[in-house]
Amino acid sequence: MDNNKLCQPMPSVPESECCHDIGQIWQKIEEQTEVQMSCITEHPGFQSTCLDVWVLETAYYAYRQQHGTDSQRLGHEKFRYIAYRQLVRCCWGYLCRKVRVALPSCAVNKIRQRFPADFGTSCTGLKPPNLQ
Ligand SMILES: [Zn+2]
Repeated sequence: MDNNKLCQPMPSVPESECCHDIGQIWQKIEEQTEVQMSCITEHPGFQSTCLDVWVLETAYYAYRQQHGTDSQRLGHEKFRYIAYRQLVRCCWGYLCRKVRVALPSCAVNKIRQRFPADFGTSCTGLKPPNLQ
């Protein structure tokens, strides 16, 4: 199987690594033995925690309760941000707010496909976890 097709690294952006190169993510793939997977985006947990709008909306309310309200509406940009956080939670568990991890391009692309940049706003890419 050609794994590289799913995980084409992108040049010179923080999230350029393939999920195969990121220990915590690859561990998540190997943990579950029911389905044969070559990429984190095929993981059933990825689909439900990072791409399901109801899960993301619920996670967003938990985030808001913790970090206070913001005036931004719950659009695609917010969904993308929460989805990145969900992926980090799912694979790394708890991370200190100052720690920044590189997310694999395959997962980032999948999330961007699901929640494309809203009209009139630019896609800013991955933000450090301490920015809001
Ligand atoms: Zn991948």
